[in-house]
Amino acid sequence: MLVVLAQFEVRLCPVWWATGVPCPGCGVVRACLALLTGHPAVAWALNPVAFAVVPVGVLEVAWMVAPRLPRWRYPPWLVIVAALALLTVWAGRLATGTHPDGIDLSRGAVARAWAFFASG
Ligand SMILES: [Zn+2]
Repeated sequence: MLVVLAQFEVRLCPVWWATGVPCPGCGVVRACLALLTGHPAVAWALNPVAFAVVPVGVLEVAWMVAPRLPRWRYPPWLVIVAALALLTVWAGRLATGTHPDGIDLSRGAVARAWAFFASG
């Protein structure tokens, strides 16, 4: 099923839909599917945060199905570092034009609505 889902490019991001600019989380689902189906290079290209999301997801599922496993809380500093890394990678990719989804302001709903009303 994951292999089938990975074949589709479904965009559910409201930020991308509204602006044409990918948000920091864009590509995470596709990247996780790529990682889970054995395509780490594709996952890294789509969104490196998948390499944090997948292990955390595996841990959470393991704790859910086996509640007696030793459990710990994620330290707050780790969450902050992960968030800063996510934002840094996102900003860097947008600034250098290397984001896999690219920026296309003309595809955003705001720009399309502006063009519609401006055309009279
Ligand atoms: Zn997004």
